[in-house]
Amino acid sequence: MSEIRTIGILGGGQLGRMLSAAASRLGLRCHIYEPGAAPAGDVAWRLTTAPYEDETALRAFAESVDVITYEFENVPTSALDLLESLRPIRPGRRSLAVSQDRLTEKTFLNEIGLATAPFADVPDQGALDEAIARIGRPSILKTRRMGYDGKGQVRIGDGPAEWTGAPSVLEGFVDFSAEISVIIARGADGQTAAYDPGLNVHEGGILRRTTIPCGLPARLTTDAVLIAARIANALDHVGVMGVELFVTPGGLIVNEIAPRVHNSGHWTQAGCAVDQFEQHIRAVAGLPLGDGRRHADVVMENLIGDDIARVPALLAQPSTQIHLYGKAQARPGRKMGHVNRITG
Ligand code: AMP
Repeated sequence: MSEIRTIGILGGGQLGRMLSAAASRLGLRCHIYEPGAAPAGDVAWRLTTAPYEDETALRAFAESVDVITYEFENVPTSALDLLESLRPIRPGRRSLAVSQDRLTEKTFLNEIGLATAPFADVPDQGALDEAIARIGRPSILKTRRMGYDGKGQVRIGDGPAEWTGAPSVLEGFVDFSAEISVIIARGADGQTAAYDPGLNVHEGGILRRTTIPCGLPARLTTDAVLIAARIANALDHVGVMGVELFVTPGGLIVNEIAPRVHNSGHWTQAGCAVDQFEQHIRAVAGLPLGDGRRHADVVMENLIGDDIARVPALLAQPSTQIHLYGKAQARPGRKMGHVNRITG
């Protein structure tokens, strides 16, 4: 077994909660660091509630763990610098740098030969006008940093386009026939294990449902896995990564990389012997990866906001696994839990 006994996790949301549960099954324990409310704190060994600027708290956190990982990629650089001087961070800084900034991310993807939507750097209003002239309409203006679940995005239609005031990228609108994602794990030894790509449906920028198998031809699903492996290898990534792709008549286009466990990988809890959470813990702890083989067809559906009221009815459904995150208040757009339905 590895020397690692205690894993530090930056971020205390549902992903941290499910990572902690997976770690505990492997006899490991987790210390969560989270500035706000922390659903993960309920199931972890320890919880530190402190801002990412609190150097004393960061230091004590790092000194109590063997390795540090994250469930949230937007941790400030100053906190990462301090933590990294004390303990290894897995996945490493390159995976974080690329996924924290949409401009760096798209530039990196093109550099390793992968297709993205056409994009342009938009630091100000003048650049926006030039970018629209080059890329055309419709297009989407996205903040370079801190965007998730469709936040920080403005669709540019026929009307006047106003820069949002934040450094952004303009992306050409991709006329896709489907959205898929690949969840891949890479160990410290470079070994990779991918799960079958899932078909994703978003509503209002938020993931609603993931269906496995995705129903696309094998040449596309194989391509998608090869793309994910190329990204993970190029970043020397250690841990799980989610890669979101658009399916277009011209082939696959990479939309986004998440350097962590991903909502579209929750189906693995019901579909695979080793789910994405255990896989991430294994990679981070230096343990051999499990295989990504799928033993069931699954539909994962998020419970968002008031969907939580459906839980009593869902509890009565056959072949349905329910995961609730223990969040006190249901707000619109807030992920409260998910269900995995085994469909075959
Ligand atoms: P993102 O936060 O970049 O993952 O965007 C959230 C969702 O918005 C995606 O899953 C797509 O459904 C949609 N979207 C984002 N970028 C584009 C694009 N360039 N063209 C068309 N749809 C997009």
